[in-house]
Amino acid sequence: MEHIDRRKFLSLSALAGAGTMMSAEALASYRKKEKKKEEPEITAIPRRKLGKTGIELPVLSMGVMRADNPAVVRAAYNAGLLHFDTAHNYQRGANESMLGEFFKDKPRDSFIISTKGKANLRSENFEAEYEELFNTSLSRLQMDYVDIFYTHAVDRGSELSDPRLIKTLTKFKESGKARHLGFSTHANKPEQIDEAIKAGIYEVCLLSYNFKLGILPELDAAIQRGVDAGMGFVAMKTMVGGVEDAEGKRVVNGAACLRWVWQNPNITTAIPGFTSFELLDNCLEAAHKPELGEADKGYLAGLQQNEMLYCQNCEKCVAACQKHLPIPAIMRAYMYNYGYRQPALSQATLHELALSGEVCKDCKSCTVACPSGFKVADKIAAITPIINVPSHFLV
Ligand code: SF4
Ligand code: SF4
Repeated sequence: MEHIDRRKFLSLSALAGAGTMMSAEALASYRKKEKKKEEPEITAIPRRKLGKTGIELPVLSMGVMRADNPAVVRAAYNAGLLHFDTAHNYQRGANESMLGEFFKDKPRDSFIISTKGKANLRSENFEAEYEELFNTSLSRLQMDYVDIFYTHAVDRGSELSDPRLIKTLTKFKESGKARHLGFSTHANKPEQIDEAIKAGIYEVCLLSYNFKLGILPELDAAIQRGVDAGMGFVAMKTMVGGVEDAEGKRVVNGAACLRWVWQNPNITTAIPGFTSFELLDNCLEAAHKPELGEADKGYLAGLQQNEMLYCQNCEKCVAACQKHLPIPAIMRAYMYNYGYRQPALSQATLHELALSGEVCKDCKSCTVACPSGFKVADKIAAITPIINVPSHFLV
């Protein structure tokens, strides 16, 4: 594939964002007309099958989580993206509502929607509550069904085979409200994939997948087992927190990160969370030229030793912590605030953990040594004060 000039993509999403409705084909034809003789041909975004679901997706999809501007969704849709990923709890429901407004007058077969709901299996009233949660999501989305419903942020593999969860998810599918079922995980444990294969109802797995992963060989082997069993895999956290450094000051080269992910043919699509036209263009540029080049490899190799913001979820810190704090989830909250600039999501993540504001105050010294080099106690001290900020001050 040939080089795509970045300026063309900037003008592309500006055009799409201005509200002009164009199909991918119409856009290609528009761009052909505009193309000067010496400019290269624009190649289509490759598509891959999503397991045995029968869905085929462009390798680039949109993680809508952080987007609150429907113009960016419109630009992505008009640029030919098909798959839009949200969740019940993103932006306290406003994210699903925004998508509902945007898609309400679009042909239902012109997009693929996935949403997620966290299963509170500790509740005695779980089945009714989970059904209510899902119905609320459908109502916000103004849709009769979603294409994929994920049980959200699974922590332990054993959750996936919980009989109440299986019964409720099966009911969602049999009612036609969820075309396909899946699970999402930040924990990235290969055994979760094996548990999902055993449970037999999960068709899609949404998991963190990026060049910083410490357990790549084991994870790739588990993904292959999942693919062999007919599951499809969607990648998130592809940009390792969106920044190159632990302080969140330098934006990462998202195109290089995505190209690294697409090297694995078992990953159907990636859902980077672009919030701006510029980042969308960066992702589109990668999607139209998805092969990992030498410059990308050199760039990513240079980041291997950076602390960055992506916690591997290896859980080595939990046993070493004197209070057995849920450190991986706290590190995720840190990334949401300092990498994604989403303090409300960061606060919501900490509220789910029911932490107090000064969790480390009784320790004389921190006993945690993180293999990724995270200064865990410093990060906890930097993020936990957000717990007590009145939520109306946060976005
Ligand atoms: S903070 Fe470090 S040790 Fe703890 S889960 Fe994350 S990467 Fe592993
Ligand atoms: S300082 Fe915080 S992270 Fe470190 S051991 Fe104590 S409670 Fe755990």
